[in-house]
Amino acid sequence: MDNCIFCKIAKGEIPAKTVYEDAHVMAFHDIAPKADTHILVIPKTHITNLMTVGERDWPVLTHLMNKVNHIAAAQGLEGFRLISNNGTKGSQEVMHMHWHVLGGDQLPGF
Ligand code: 5GP
Ligand code: ZN
Repeated sequence: MDNCIFCKIAKGEIPAKTVYEDAHVMAFHDIAPKADTHILVIPKTHITNLMTVGERDWPVLTHLMNKVNHIAAAQGLEGFRLISNNGTKGSQEVMHMHWHVLGGDQLPGF
């Protein structure tokens, strides 16, 4: 999608500190970390959020969820918090679905 910052990261048009990538999923460090470890996991295709998700999106989201624990473990985490903001009334700033993987002490958001 034009003008979507995470689509641009997925296409390599904007740099990111990538920690995992395959054909469908990408994970990279949040530019303004809110925890000792703060990784964003995104589908490479543009899905806005869980308010608008459709049945056609579930294969890639199932794949994404299957990778989250591997991404966290590769960061040396023994546990993590997974946060997803959905919609402007749900604090979502970037309108491309992403999952915040948070690790370390004093995790925010709960
Ligand atoms: P949201 O509030 O939409 O759930 O969170 C968006 C997150 O994306 C924020 O934590 C913010 O720091 C991060 N972010 C925004 N722009 C960029 C960017 O260009 N690169 C990276 N790596 N993270 C970004
Ligand atoms: Zn996008």
